[in-house]
Amino acid sequence: MVVFETKDEALNHMSPETIRKNESHLRSRRAELYARLEQRDGIRIEAAAEGLDAVQNSQLREFAVGEIDRNSRQLREIESALSRIEAGEYGICLSCDEEIGPKRLAALPWATHCVRCQDRADREWARSGDSQDLPFDMMPAA
Ligand SMILES: [Zn+2]
Repeated sequence: MVVFETKDEALNHMSPETIRKNESHLRSRRAELYARLEQRDGIRIEAAAEGLDAVQNSQLREFAVGEIDRNSRQLREIESALSRIEAGEYGICLSCDEEIGPKRLAALPWATHCVRCQDRADREWARSGDSQDLPFDMMPAA
């Protein structure tokens, strides 16, 4: 008799094709983010050269830094999703060990939490009052 561990059982719900599809989505998203991060640097230098006033300049810089921050964070999530694929742990909620679900992963291939745990985290996030900076699980997939 074959005894599956919880994680393996959950993984059986997601076909290797689905995982491969998500992996390629993750890889192209990663390339896109790297390209965008490089582009950001260029825009920032150009803006400074055009002689905006100090306030405009710092607002622009703040915006750019915020976006770079969000992009870097998503890159880290993508890297970690890719290594979970490699480890055979992809698609498992980090909080409750339940299956995240192929549908949710198709929309958010870097999702680390099932809808239930994400909802709970989002509510806690909303209570903290920091609505400017949504967890990127909330960002639309490209
Ligand atoms: Zn969960």
